[in-house]
Amino acid sequence: MQDFGSSLKNVFRKIAGLGIVDKEAVEAIIKELQRTLLQGDVDVALVSELSSKIKKRVLEAKLPAGLTLKEYFIKSLYEEIVEFLGREKGEVALKKQRILLIGLFGSGKTTTAGKIAKWFKVRGLKPGLVACDTHRAAAKEQIKQIGKRVEVPVYYSGKKPEDIAKEALKKSKEDVLIFDSAGRDALDSKLAKELKDLSKVIKPDEVLLVIPADIGQAARKQSEEFNKLVGITGIVVTKLDGTARGGGALAAAAVSGAGVKFIGIGEKVGDLEVYDPTRFVSRLIGYGDIQGLLEKAKEVGISKETADKIMEGKFTLNEFYEQIKSMQKMGSLSKIMDMIPGAGGMKIPKGMLDVQEDKMKKWKFAIDSMTKEERENPEIIKASRIKRIAKGAGLSESDVRDMLKYYKQTKKVMKMAKGGKGLKRGPLAAIAKQFGMKA
Ligand code: GDP
Ligand code: MG
Repeated sequence: MQDFGSSLKNVFRKIAGLGIVDKEAVEAIIKELQRTLLQGDVDVALVSELSSKIKKRVLEAKLPAGLTLKEYFIKSLYEEIVEFLGREKGEVALKKQRILLIGLFGSGKTTTAGKIAKWFKVRGLKPGLVACDTHRAAAKEQIKQIGKRVEVPVYYSGKKPEDIAKEALKKSKEDVLIFDSAGRDALDSKLAKELKDLSKVIKPDEVLLVIPADIGQAARKQSEEFNKLVGITGIVVTKLDGTARGGGALAAAAVSGAGVKFIGIGEKVGDLEVYDPTRFVSRLIGYGDIQGLLEKAKEVGISKETADKIMEGKFTLNEFYEQIKSMQKMGSLSKIMDMIPGAGGMKIPKGMLDVQEDKMKKWKFAIDSMTKEERENPEIIKASRIKRIAKGAGLSESDVRDMLKYYKQTKKVMKMAKGGKGLKRGPLAAIAKQFGMKA
């Protein structure tokens, strides 16, 4: 979504930079939006529908009190894009239930099964996995490993998918059973029958279709077909992290009838979110997602205080180490930065946010070798102090310089994020408030 997100961000930035908002300017921006959406593999008809809707809304509507035309334009664009990428947010009930995952080969079913198990587990329920893919040779091994990683039981005894499902239903005591199934290259009658038979045995509360984002607008046809032949209650769009076509996939899913419940944003078991289009778009265009950040923090056991500190950008060397460590626990730091209002829109040097484990260890030694004063006020650390710290920590001087450089860079980014460039004081402040976002 990187490319899609940054070109979308650009569209918003362009509006914010407009001198006069007249018909011509609106049309030029909408053209830019169209280009962005088409590049994201959004269906042409959907793009043109959205364009006329926005144009009409902005050029013909009566301006709401208290908003300038520019602000109204931004607000309309934002709201229409949110609706375009998903009318509703994914509702996932925290209750005892059976979930069946279906989809084509390689769409991410098995990985998603593990992610969903973890999702329920950190929310206090007891999940179990059922391995109903009997086609792929290594399928059982894969899901067993995932089960081990998430620390949930995996049921796999039996030959046929239905037998495995029956056995699991008989034996298991878990609250949430997640049934993985076999995929194929295409949804043919054989796969449809197998899934229907399986569904009869399981009687699932949810049948979730797993679709990889990289198929773009083809997601529409796929979900309509699966819905017709097997029946689905929702969609999981996976691999949103690795493609520019995510916009197309989400827009397609939004018009296909079944809503998107979860999105997959990475290969790790924690890389799953309940889909919330408002928050998703907000993050995409650099407005941040505080709620998402707090949820992520809670999932990995980080206190609200630490999370608050991270967001406030409180940052002496005392906090530096713990915070980098905490942020790393939550997942890739670049993903976390996208959730911090204002920070998502900034250009952050590539690689800056993902520090290697061995480097972190060295930095801990360095920080331990500092005086209290140095930790609280790192600006005083010059050559002679660097020498002393390196010696005390058993590191080279360049290790210490490296850490200080990283600290300064991060602090700068945090400060800019905290200042909420373009949010807190910028022209978008009023809009941010409208969205109910704490800027
Ligand atoms: P299945 O055939 O539908 O069961 O698909 P798998 O669960 O085996 O996944 C196929 C590949 O996609 C694996 O290499 C996964 O690691 C990868 N994958 C699944 N979900 C995601 C995701 O959200 N992001 C990324 N980057 N990779 C994913
Ligand atoms: Mg599989």
